[in-house]
Amino acid sequence: MDQQSQKAHILIFPLPIQGPVNSMLKLAELILIASQGQIQVTFLTTIHTHTRLNLHAKAATRFSGYPSFSFVTFPDGLPEDHPRGGDKFMEMLNAVEGVSQPLLRDMMLNNNSSHKNDDYPITCLISDGLFHFAVDLGKENGIPVIYFETMSLSCLWVYLCLPKFIEAGEVPFQENEGMEAILTLPGIRGLLRRCDLPDFCRANNSSSETMIQRIIELEKQYNRASALIFNTFEDLEAPLLSYIRAHHPYNMYVIGPLHLHLKEKLLELEATKATPPPSTYCSNSIWREDNSCIEWLNRHPRRSVIYCSFGSQVTLSKEQLIEFWHGLVNSGFRFLWVKRPRSVIGMEDDVHNKWHEQIPDKLLKGVMKNGYVVTWAPQEEILNHPSIGGFFTHSGWNSTIESLVAGVPMICWPHYVDQLVISRYVSHFWKVGLDMKDSCDRVILENMVRDVMCKRKDEFLQNANALANLAKQSVENRGSSCRSLDMLVDEIMSFRL
Ligand code: UDP
Repeated sequence: MDQQSQKAHILIFPLPIQGPVNSMLKLAELILIASQGQIQVTFLTTIHTHTRLNLHAKAATRFSGYPSFSFVTFPDGLPEDHPRGGDKFMEMLNAVEGVSQPLLRDMMLNNNSSHKNDDYPITCLISDGLFHFAVDLGKENGIPVIYFETMSLSCLWVYLCLPKFIEAGEVPFQENEGMEAILTLPGIRGLLRRCDLPDFCRANNSSSETMIQRIIELEKQYNRASALIFNTFEDLEAPLLSYIRAHHPYNMYVIGPLHLHLKEKLLELEATKATPPPSTYCSNSIWREDNSCIEWLNRHPRRSVIYCSFGSQVTLSKEQLIEFWHGLVNSGFRFLWVKRPRSVIGMEDDVHNKWHEQIPDKLLKGVMKNGYVVTWAPQEEILNHPSIGGFFTHSGWNSTIESLVAGVPMICWPHYVDQLVISRYVSHFWKVGLDMKDSCDRVILENMVRDVMCKRKDEFLQNANALANLAKQSVENRGSSCRSLDMLVDEIMSFRL
């Protein structure tokens, strides 16, 4: 073999939004560390995302410590002020798919990631599970494709079983059928109700048909991939995992929680003094984190504050925001609220704190007394702050797993797709919180805050701490996620040309 054919080279291609970019950058770092630099990693993303990663997460500086790592960027063709998410998510997805397909083909065909002479040829593509075309491009060019799943395993299972639900007449369902138990879900029979299925299973959902078609294709897509990677851990989804393994041919690498796994690997490196001491939290934020909230949290007693954030995509109406703020203020507990720019429809943006002028005076007084509002927060650090006692969340998978690892109970207000499944798992399977799906009511929220922060605090905390311990064991030396990462690295190394 000549020099060029001796190093494995993976191209990592995330959906360019906060959650997947964050977790796939952590995946990249884990592979670099576990392979001791033997695998070259190219991270493909949009110029828009890359610019923000450099600005807010100092990505260029942090990743310069890995000689085998590089970013390759491409323009997504959208105007600079496009939100690239929320209700414009599909516009962003279509734009990115349109531009990236010919680019990926070119990169694979020419066996070159960035047209630099010192690159090794690409030997494997790790793509976000949403990019259906990736496996076709891989087959065309003889390059193995591994899909990275940004959702939980339970949700993937729901997706794979969709044809069964349709056959049984359980999907699509009408509003008044939402509370009926799903009986055709092997492995977790009876746990989910119809309203816990992804939103596109509802008959009144406008994108129902398109989405169902897309999801049905998923099974074929995954059957053709070399493997799947999950940001979860064996003990969290054990019964389901053995069920899927027994019934499907997928080669699955369960290597999460990625943020904890990375932290563990960095600490191991630090112990050998092979690198400078790592910072405790590796931020991959594409917004500016407002760290003033940490000082605010420092002033409050242990487990006395509820952290509220709906991730990077969800948008609220002004009425929903006001209803939630009423519930929080009435509960009497302190709260830290992340109000992302342009996340409240119908409300003037945060520039010059204009939102202050748009909510009723009495409510504003309560918010100023008990609350603290930021545009973006260092979430991992916040969830691990001693004064946090609960998390009011949209049940995005990254937020959920970050909360589980920190042992923080949740109140779930899921918005769409996998979030509706996850919130049910939180409340009825892991029993680490409450699910308020399909309601936006100040009294319900007020009562749930009291339950999570006070009345049922011990029960939720006990369950949350037990899961947090299992998560920790999974990433320790010889833990299940640690072993699975080693196997993933071996598989990638075997793809050398
Ligand atoms: N996040 C953050 N600061 C915030 C809100 C969110 O750093 O103020 C991060 C959070 O830690 C998580 C990601 O953004 O890693 C959100 O991903 P998730 O899957 O929870 O939701 P999505 O944004 O994809 O809906």
